[in-house]
Amino acid sequence: MNFFSIKDPNHIVSFAQAIKDGLAPNQGLYYPTAVPVFDPSFFETMPNLTLPQLASKVLAPYVMPDLNQATLDAIVNEVFDFPIPLVEVEKNVFALELFHGPTLAFKDIGARFLAQSIRHLNKDLKIRVLVATSGDTGSAVANGFLGVEGTEVIVLYPKGKVSELQQKQFASLGQNIKAIAIEGTFDDCQRLVKSAFSDESINKPMNLTSANSINVARWVPQSVYYYWAVAQAMKFGQPISICVPSGNLGNITSGLLALKTGLPVQHFVASSNANHVVPEFLRTGLYQAQTTIQTLANAMDVGDPNNFPRLMQLFGHNVPEIQQKVTGFAYSDTQIADIMRDCYKRNHYILDPHGATGFAAIKKHQIQHGGVGVFLETAHPGKFVENVEAILEMKLTLPIKLQEFAKRTIKAETLPADYSSFKNFLTNLI
Ligand SMILES: *Cc1c(COP(=O)(O)O)cnc(C)c1O
Repeated sequence: MNFFSIKDPNHIVSFAQAIKDGLAPNQGLYYPTAVPVFDPSFFETMPNLTLPQLASKVLAPYVMPDLNQATLDAIVNEVFDFPIPLVEVEKNVFALELFHGPTLAFKDIGARFLAQSIRHLNKDLKIRVLVATSGDTGSAVANGFLGVEGTEVIVLYPKGKVSELQQKQFASLGQNIKAIAIEGTFDDCQRLVKSAFSDESINKPMNLTSANSINVARWVPQSVYYYWAVAQAMKFGQPISICVPSGNLGNITSGLLALKTGLPVQHFVASSNANHVVPEFLRTGLYQAQTTIQTLANAMDVGDPNNFPRLMQLFGHNVPEIQQKVTGFAYSDTQIADIMRDCYKRNHYILDPHGATGFAAIKKHQIQHGGVGVFLETAHPGKFVENVEAILEMKLTLPIKLQEFAKRTIKAETLPADYSSFKNFLTNLI
């Protein structure tokens, strides 16, 4: 399949080129030229498929001919090698647990698919992946690319603003992964990455690519677990509604892409923290970017979601149609803490602060509309151990994967937040 730039529909590239570019010129997002539509009988057969089989069926139309069937099968077997269970938390309310991968967050799926695609598509070139992170993205991308031949990953993060356990997940890996602590904010890190992309003297010789949620090789594969959720939820009844804790809208727009292919989901709910741009847009039809507020659910601290153009594109810019299919609810930090305590008390289920917004929002929807409610648990509560322990007033047992990260040593370089220092660093890598 080809992909066009939402900013310039005449700019059309192959899947392979869209991955390599990351963004189209003028920061345009890539979007498939024809969203595939599956036969209704396909959805009935889903419960008979394994997760990799389902992934292969769903993704084939997007990645061919750049990846052939055998390569795609190899990639999905590598990427979808951990369980994604649907767990009943309360009657008719289910968590889709996306946190059983290497860094215990849903971003593992897209990041690993991106890494494996690059490995198969670029046999001769050395590709360098730049990623600015405030935590989760850096660890998913670094672990996805760890040891992948022909790639080098450079993770930029704001010095002193990322928890030690999070740093250990991307700044301790060595091999082809380099971490740089920038003496500045997350915005400074993003600015440095953007400057490198627009600097031809760096971009060309280094074969730079971007790994944030806008890359199609992260965005499209995320749609797979929506089919998987429906395949598992069907046996509990109909209709099915899905709630997605949202920040940059990468995750929920992947779900809406699945909806466009015919996936039988009645309704989508976007939950947010105090950064309520999306719920406000869904309520009023007006989009107003806001200054980011720091919250307990920090991976959703986004005031101007960068996948918003994809949301508009999915519905042909028809705002009333978006409002009919998607509802939004926002929660303050106080509410998030209350939801976590209440859910633990009633169900003995430990929510993470992001999933907590999803749980509350799907319950609100489910009580009014009935059917089966699914919310995405986007990260393991152990990733936010300090906050979760303080809120629930109890000790958490960390999963083995996190205990292993906790034992590692951080190896990061420190750089000032100016482009000339960063450019110097990059030049020394060539
Ligand atoms: C990234 C992230 C989100 C937000 O996902 P978007 O695709 O940016 O909307 C939600 N929860 C967790 C745990 C995340 O890491």
